[in-house]
Amino acid sequence: MNITYSIVAPVYNELENIPELYRRLTEVMDSMGETWELVLVDDGSTDGSTEVIVKLGKEDERVRPVIFARNFGHQIAITAGWDYARGAAVVIIDADLQDPPELILEMAKKWKEGYEVVYAVRAEREGESWFKLWTASLFYRLIYRITDVKIPLDTGDFRLMDRKVVDVLRAMRERHRFPRGMSAWVGFKQIGVDYKRAARIAGETKYPFRKMFRLALNAITSFSYFPLQVATFFGFASAGIAILAIIPVIYLRMTGSQAFFGQATTLIAVLFLGGVQLISLGILGEYIGRLYDEAKGRPLYIVREAPKDQ
Ligand code: UDP
Ligand code: MG
Repeated sequence: MNITYSIVAPVYNELENIPELYRRLTEVMDSMGETWELVLVDDGSTDGSTEVIVKLGKEDERVRPVIFARNFGHQIAITAGWDYARGAAVVIIDADLQDPPELILEMAKKWKEGYEVVYAVRAEREGESWFKLWTASLFYRLIYRITDVKIPLDTGDFRLMDRKVVDVLRAMRERHRFPRGMSAWVGFKQIGVDYKRAARIAGETKYPFRKMFRLALNAITSFSYFPLQVATFFGFASAGIAILAIIPVIYLRMTGSQAFFGQATTLIAVLFLGGVQLISLGILGEYIGRLYDEAKGRPLYIVREAPKDQ
């Protein structure tokens, strides 16, 4: 069967949202009059979402359930979605309906015009704390500045991608991933469409600060050496200051001044440098840990249940 649109929704404990997601998606997709499928990736839910997804798959053959053996994280769930989607265009959408399914119509229009990646830009965001809005905004701007890829500002994973792009992304099996960055990195003809990001219809965010921080770290380390360069910069800067400081110290000592006899200055300098060195080691560690993870070459995810054809 030739499928035009694959909708991929990662699901982690979204029990109350699945029926409404299915209803609204069906309405939108049926109105387009083309073939479509819905790939629901269950990312180790524990609230009964799994059973609902499996049941939906039995009732409607357009629903393809991919059930993970445990929670692997949002980014990995998206990756599995790419693997199991068969459509000529693949749309990634959140299962909590913060991304309005109706926008897919507009995305599809752009795709038909020849664009290969149509990403949704969050022009407005509803029902989110100022802390989340502020950290998100800061994060997108930081990433834009320090990485080599120009990841469009204020975009999430909600996007439509052509089969060509998905096939390229599927070949990129890196473990610590930042899908929106990867999809910017591959190039192709890209365009954004604005939308208003709604509040969750039910449930709570699955992205506590800890997870947001990890995602930010993955994004930065996957796309730049900036943190490593900061260490080099600090190294040169402190060495430079030290050399400059020698001159007045020698002069003062030769003229018999009692300055710089205290231990405090020495202690502060040692502590400061020790701190900088430890931070640099930590940064190195972040990169080495990621290298180690890649070297192990474990599968990105494990499925308990999934369609036979990938
Ligand atoms: N999600 C997932 N695995 C996780 C965390 C989240 O599959 O470990 C899914 C979640 O069910 C939702 C989407 O990823 O469909 C976005 O998560 P969430 O709404 O919690 O993030 P936020 O919108 O608050 O940034
Ligand atoms: Mg959400």
